[in-house]
Amino acid sequence: MLSEFSLIEKFFKQKKHLNGHTNLGIGDDCALLSIPSGYELAITTDTMVENVHFFADADPAQLGHKLLAVNLSDLAAMGAKPIAVTLALTLPYIDENWLRQFSSGFLELARQFSVDLIGGDTTQGALTLTVQAMGIVPNGQALKRSTAQIGDAIFMTGNLGDAGLGLKIKKGYRHEDAQEALNRFHAPMPRIETGLALQGIASACIDISDGLLSDLGHILKQSEVGACVEWEKLPLSSSVQSYIEHTGDVLMPLIGGDDYELCFTVPEKLVHCVPDNCTQIGTIEAQLGLRLKKSGHIETLTAKGYEHFS
Ligand code: ADP
Ligand code: MG
Repeated sequence: MLSEFSLIEKFFKQKKHLNGHTNLGIGDDCALLSIPSGYELAITTDTMVENVHFFADADPAQLGHKLLAVNLSDLAAMGAKPIAVTLALTLPYIDENWLRQFSSGFLELARQFSVDLIGGDTTQGALTLTVQAMGIVPNGQALKRSTAQIGDAIFMTGNLGDAGLGLKIKKGYRHEDAQEALNRFHAPMPRIETGLALQGIASACIDISDGLLSDLGHILKQSEVGACVEWEKLPLSSSVQSYIEHTGDVLMPLIGGDDYELCFTVPEKLVHCVPDNCTQIGTIEAQLGLRLKKSGHIETLTAKGYEHFS
C-alpha cells in the first residue's frame, strides 16, 4: 500500500515549476508564492463530490481535467491569470490506476496554462475532490459581478447549452451526434485568454456554471439592474438546435449548467474591442428582472438554474 507521501511523489509532483511565481511547491508545511507588486491575488475554491457533481463511473482523466477546469474558469471570470493550485483529495481507498489517470488529466490541463500544483491534502473517506486556485490580476482590474451598467451590451463566449445537452445524453436522451456535447459536458475548457483580454473592456463578468439565467441573474442582482436577452442571438450549436426542434425544450440552453463559458457586459463605446469569439446576446436595462425576447414577444424569466438544497 502506497503511503500518502509516496502517492504524492508518484502522481502529483510536477517535474519542475511552470511559472516564475512559485518559490516553494509540494513538500513543506506551506508552499510559497510571490505576488508581483501592482497585482492582487485572486483566490477561489470548488469541491466536487461523487454522485453529486459527477457520476460514479466518470472517466478519471476527464474528472481530473474538469475539477481543475471549473476552478480555472472562476479565475477566467475575474480576468485573472492562473498561477497555482492546491488539491485536497478524499479517497475511499488507494486505486493506483484511478490516481494515474486522474492526475494525468489534472496535470495536463495545468501544464497548458502553466499552473503549478503547489500542495494539498490527502485523506480517507467518501470520494471528494477540492481545488483551491490562485491567480493574479492588476490592482483594480478584476472583473466583478456588481459593476454592470444600464445600457451595457451583454456578451458570451462560445456556444450555449452543449454541456446541458451532454448531460441529457448521459441520462439517456438519444442524439445522432452525441460526442461533441458529451465532450463539452465532461471536459470544459476555461476561457482564460478571453478573461485576460477583457481587462479594461468588460464592466462585469461571470462564468456560466449553473446556467445562463441563474448566472446572468447574479450579475443583475449584484449590479441592481435588469436585462433583456434575445433568443435569436443566442449562439446555439447545430446539435442544440436539433435537440430543441425534436423536444420543444427551448429552456434547456438557458437553464442547463456546466458550459463554463463567460458571460460579460461591455459599455457601448467599448463593444468594438470585444474578441471575435464572443456573441452579443442582449442588453442591460434599468427595469429589474430578466426578460427574453423571442419572435418579437418579450417574456419575464425566473432563474431556474441548479441550486443546491433547493
Ligand atoms: P502536513 O501534515 O504538514 O499537512 P502532509 O503530509 O499532509 O503535510 O503533506 C505533505 C506535503 O504534500 C505538503 O507539502 C502538502 O501540501 C502536499 N500534499 C498533500 N496532499 C497533496 C495532494 N493531494 N496534492 C498535492 N500535494 C499534496
Ligand atoms: Mg496534511
